[in-house]
Amino acid sequence: MTTAARKIRLVMELRRSGINDTHVLSAIERIPREAFVPEAFQDQAYENRALPIGFGQTLSQPGVVAAMTQALKTDRRLKVLEIGTGSGYQGAILSRLCRRLYTIERYRDLGREAEARFYDLRLHNITTRIGDGYKGWPEQAPFSRIIVTAAALEVPGTLVDQLSPGGILIVPIGQTGREQALLRLTRDEYGQIHEERLGGVRFVPMVAGLPATAEASQAPRRARA
Ligand code: SAH
Repeated sequence: MTTAARKIRLVMELRRSGINDTHVLSAIERIPREAFVPEAFQDQAYENRALPIGFGQTLSQPGVVAAMTQALKTDRRLKVLEIGTGSGYQGAILSRLCRRLYTIERYRDLGREAEARFYDLRLHNITTRIGDGYKGWPEQAPFSRIIVTAAALEVPGTLVDQLSPGGILIVPIGQTGREQALLRLTRDEYGQIHEERLGGVRFVPMVAGLPATAEASQAPRRARA
């Protein structure tokens, strides 16, 4: 099967699973997922599954990326913050659907590789940072939308504080290795926060602080299954 055929098959599968936002579907069609997938997994780039990207981290399943993007209700006028750049795939999709994306990754090598992909794909409305996502991005706050692509044990208060009125935060909450609750928090015009549970997901953990330099440069590039 050709890449184009695999891509069409994936988009049809996403439609059947309830992704009906045409902007989200066309972003999935336009961003080449193979550019974010390690060499050894190229043949699986358009399978609806998560793939390893090194440092024990994963590139999320397309179905999860699509569902989270749709739930974020973003549009071309908005400023968006992503925590957990990883491969950069989720960020690339978001960049087509917002004015500017700010994305933070704690592993330097992952962040730099993602940045190179954004450059190659000419996604020029993305700003990357190596840092601890628990701190958010105070210099650029507030954000209309915030998406966390790693699981926290509780909703990070700093990120809630960096949300604009009318803003939406999406974050998986729960322990690693178990099903986590995908939460959507909305800040209304009066500053009140409303919380909804969107479903169950499985993400790698959101870890505070930066990896030790030695760990960052010597970690085996093997991934969790
Ligand atoms: N959005 C990514 C998914 C990456 S997996 C993609 O599309 O490929 C989650 C990522 O979050 C990992 O790369 C991990 O290193 C990162 N991460 C975990 N805790 C973090 C933190 N506190 N700050 C920034 N990044 C974090």
